[in-house]
Amino acid sequence: MSDKSDPLPWYKEGLRFQCTECGQCCTGGPGYVWLKEEDILSISEQLGISPEEFVRDYTRSVFDRVALIEDPKSYDCIFLEGKRCKIYQGRPRQCRTFPWWPEYLSTKEAWNEAAQRCEGINHPDAPLIPFEKIEEQR
Ligand code: SF4
Ligand code: SF4
Repeated sequence: MSDKSDPLPWYKEGLRFQCTECGQCCTGGPGYVWLKEEDILSISEQLGISPEEFVRDYTRSVFDRVALIEDPKSYDCIFLEGKRCKIYQGRPRQCRTFPWWPEYLSTKEAWNEAAQRCEGINHPDAPLIPFEKIEEQR
């Protein structure tokens, strides 16, 4: 039960996470990797193409927003190669901030539920990520 007199969130002692690079969060779905302008600029620069070319060749428009293309059958992200992200260094903010998303951090139950789909969450060998670091990354 949460202590209402404690201003810090339930994960104040930190959380265990380390990406095993299983690739699971880059496939399955359907789902959306939403892109902000900063993502479009950084990924197109990484690929050595113009932002317009990047938008034309790698993205789709959904509900007036821009999302990465995925394989219509496997739902693999267009940048998933084997189990690796081809643009890992410059991957979109949505990918970089995973799993420190508000919906996963909202409750311990939501966090543990996310762990059902991501083996790096609560992994026994994962380091304990301190609260301050989580707040920086989210
Ligand atoms: S599902 Fe989790 S462990 Fe697997 S690649 Fe994604 S973040 Fe890493
Ligand atoms: S951009 Fe990279 S990290 Fe993000 S979903 Fe695609 S393959 Fe995964």
